[in-house]
Amino acid sequence: MPRAVRRRWPLTRSFAVISSVAMVVLGCALVWVTWSVMSQQSVRDGIATSETVTAYATTTVPTDSFVLPDTLDADQRAAISRATSGFGDRLVELRLWALDGSLIYSSAEHTETGFPDGDRLDLVTTGGEPSARVITDVRGADAGDDGGTERHVLDVYVPVHAGDTADPDPTRAPTAVIGAAEVMLDHTAAGVALAEAVRTLGLVVAIGLLALWLVLFRTVWTASRRLQATALENARLALLDSLTGLPNRRMLAERMRRTVLEAEETGSRVGLMLLDIDRFKDINDSLGHDRGDELLEQVAERLRGALRDDDVVARLGGDEFAILLPDVRSVANAERLARRVRGLFVPPFMLGELPLHVDTSVGVACLPDHASDPSSLMRTADVAMYAAKHHRTGVSVYSADEDDSSPARLVLLGDLHRALTPAPGAHRELRMHYQPKIELATGRTVGLEALMRWVHPTRGVLPPTTFIPLAEQSGLIHDVTRYALTECVTQLAAWRAEGRATPVAVNLSAHDVTTLAVVDLIESLLEEHTVPADLLEVEITETALVADPSRVVPVLERLGALGIRVAIDDFGIGNTSISQLRDLPVDELKIDRLFVSDLGVDGREGSEIVVQAMVDLAHSFDLRVVAEGVEDEPTAVILRRLGVDQAQGYLYSQAVPADDLRLTPAVPRPRRDRGRGRGGVAVAGTRPASTRHTRPPRSPGAGDTNG
Ligand code: C2E
Ligand code: CA
Ligand code: CA
Repeated sequence: MPRAVRRRWPLTRSFAVISSVAMVVLGCALVWVTWSVMSQQSVRDGIATSETVTAYATTTVPTDSFVLPDTLDADQRAAISRATSGFGDRLVELRLWALDGSLIYSSAEHTETGFPDGDRLDLVTTGGEPSARVITDVRGADAGDDGGTERHVLDVYVPVHAGDTADPDPTRAPTAVIGAAEVMLDHTAAGVALAEAVRTLGLVVAIGLLALWLVLFRTVWTASRRLQATALENARLALLDSLTGLPNRRMLAERMRRTVLEAEETGSRVGLMLLDIDRFKDINDSLGHDRGDELLEQVAERLRGALRDDDVVARLGGDEFAILLPDVRSVANAERLARRVRGLFVPPFMLGELPLHVDTSVGVACLPDHASDPSSLMRTADVAMYAAKHHRTGVSVYSADEDDSSPARLVLLGDLHRALTPAPGAHRELRMHYQPKIELATGRTVGLEALMRWVHPTRGVLPPTTFIPLAEQSGLIHDVTRYALTECVTQLAAWRAEGRATPVAVNLSAHDVTTLAVVDLIESLLEEHTVPADLLEVEITETALVADPSRVVPVLERLGALGIRVAIDDFGIGNTSISQLRDLPVDELKIDRLFVSDLGVDGREGSEIVVQAMVDLAHSFDLRVVAEGVEDEPTAVILRRLGVDQAQGYLYSQAVPADDLRLTPAVPRPRRDRGRGRGGVAVAGTRPASTRHTRPPRSPGAGDTNG
């Protein structure tokens, strides 16, 4: 069920609602405050007028009229009328009240009696301050003709002091309050004016605030639109690669998530290809980053152009690209597509005027075949790509055997751990086999290379290529090396006891030669078994040597100082030039099988030139040259002609258990310190070269025989 999305109110809508409420409140408050100030002012004006009216009227009234109290006679009334006539129609009525509430005078005709507002009269007479109130006055109703008039009047009670009246009594203080005047002023005009003013003000405020609100709203609206547009653009950019415009890793992850969900519903198959450009770093370093970028753009262009609309091509960063195939029929189909993608790299890329040939390694994985969720699909495709690179196969489909974290590999790792620590007297799963090294000039066995075999209880004989990389990745390699060295030194001691002395070369991993621990181990083993150092050799690969020379060279120097010969294994496939070897403490060069197998093949004459150059240069540095993987006599003939010193290969023997070797007792021979003459130990080969012309089976194992 889709999750309910809680929408946030858009910024503009919230602003519109909040600001209009605020504006209305503000407008009302403004009008109300103004109205109340104005009406208070008009009341204050009315009070002032009432005080004047009172002053004019009371000067004509005798003090006693208030005190006794007594209504006024006609003359007195006329005097008041005269005194207040100046106020005209504004004065609706004037009444004079004594302290006890009796009416002394009213300007209204026929009004002799009446009652004051008792509370207000008391308030005014005791407090001495006037009191005003707007009231509705209905007048003339009983006069009959037009039913009376109704109007607003300001009814003001003004205190009357003794000093205000005529002939004040000298015994009374002039400030003593003796009564009150009630002045009723017509308030209609003031009310109308006030209402008019409030209306005008309200209108002005409303228009002003509306205009202000519109300006503010427009500003907010524009800003909000701009923000929205920026946010949208940012979101888009966050999902695209800025160089190629392809979806980036995040977008691919999102698409994968959706695709996998769909595939789970429809039961379809999802394919993922990962590819990177071989040697991209070198291209970047040698041609510059601008050219590197140009290449990436062209690669993106080719990939995009070659795939279906549904397929997603993404750049994951650097030179890594991914292609998501949302619906692929079979794994084989995905592999075919991967080969087609690889084919896109065949025509050279034009970087300016420069045609550049680049290659790619493509890893393929499918869901549900190799993975069950997007992240494991990504991981398995990555494992496949690494395998494609490692085995130089170009395209590789995921295989659990290549996968460090596949359950099968983890089980194998556990098994290896067990195999490395056998109980005393127990059957040994890890065994050393020995392959003879043949001196080409004489055909005699002058040394042996120790190669490990694993007789696995359920999987049969495993070649080292299946478990050495696993040991290297898991850190078990040091135990493997210790095992191999211990086995070999023990074997050497046994042979010595029988009077045989054939040097044995042990393969060291790149991980072993970065610390001196391996030297200490070798030294103590040789001492323990009283084996002379010159019977032991070590082989390290060229790639291990160049990976970290600053740490490897001191190790090699100490081995050399002990008298242990060092060979560079698999020479030629790395990047070392032979001249670099001049300064390295090595004694032997083992030319990789790749060059040897090409010798004598039509169209591959280049290999012979390369091998010749290697031999000449190596000899000029006093290095012994060994050819690996010699499988036939014609190759051996060429090698001999090229001056190669020793050879190893199926032509002579596969690697076999120690018991299957036919070694002859040692005959002392003169030795050179370093170089090809050294190591001429007299041992008979497992089979003379001249007698072997057929190739043995290609899979060496425990059952290997030397014929
Ligand atoms: P490597 O040191 O280059 O060993 C030579 C490999 O070539 C061996 O494979 C050997 O059986 C094979 N070989 C020998 N002659 C021929 C031939 O004429 N034709 C062909 N096609 N192959 C030939 P293996 O025994 O499978 O060993 C593979 C690699 O495993 C070795 O390559 C070495 O790097 C590693 N390795 C073997 N034993 C050990 C060990 O005890 N420790 C370490 N660290 N690595 C080992
Ligand atoms: Ca080797
Ligand atoms: Ca080798």
